[in-house]
Amino acid sequence: MKHLTIGILAFHGDVIEHKRATEQAAKKLRQKVTVIEVRTKEELSTIDALILPGGESPTLQKLCEREGMWCDIKKIPNIFGTCAGAIMLAKNIGNKSDGQKTLELMNIEIDRNAYGRQTDSFETKLMTALGEMDAVFIRAPRIKSIEKNVTILAENNDEIVACEQKTSTTFYLATCFHPELTTIRFHEYFLRNIL
Ligand code: GLN
Repeated sequence: MKHLTIGILAFHGDVIEHKRATEQAAKKLRQKVTVIEVRTKEELSTIDALILPGGESPTLQKLCEREGMWCDIKKIPNIFGTCAGAIMLAKNIGNKSDGQKTLELMNIEIDRNAYGRQTDSFETKLMTALGEMDAVFIRAPRIKSIEKNVTILAENNDEIVACEQKTSTTFYLATCFHPELTTIRFHEYFLRNIL
């Protein structure tokens, strides 16, 4: 069985929560996994898959660029992005800040801050392809449209809030909410798809 190294981009956001959820998911799957925090190009070069946590997508972009990691992240074949991480994966973003760019890896268009301000954050029960779960939306984006190779995994009032893009060599997973706060099912699904 291959021993996987999963990196969590660790500039800000739910780093510890993602680490814990990934370790618990690996334990459940009886998969040998090492989870590391990634802040440098060197750390990035050692991983099989990367998790991009929530936070502020323009800030995450700037910090990745400062560390010279931007182009290298694009080459990671398996990436799971939550909230700001999902924004980073998208080909197109609405409501972007000045100079903001994305990794352009997923064929989706995503609207930043689609539900309003920080105080408009909310928690709801969500029916997903992985079962029903509580979902926390924190100044969350909404996936406006999807294209080639993308499959919807969850909708909230007809709005797409989770999806995946799978090819023979890559697997990308995006959620507008924060599964690391309420469930390990998305982490488990991510691991299953990259084993
Ligand atoms: N509003 C943030 C952004 O645009 C995302 C919020 C989050 O990750 N919880 O990047």
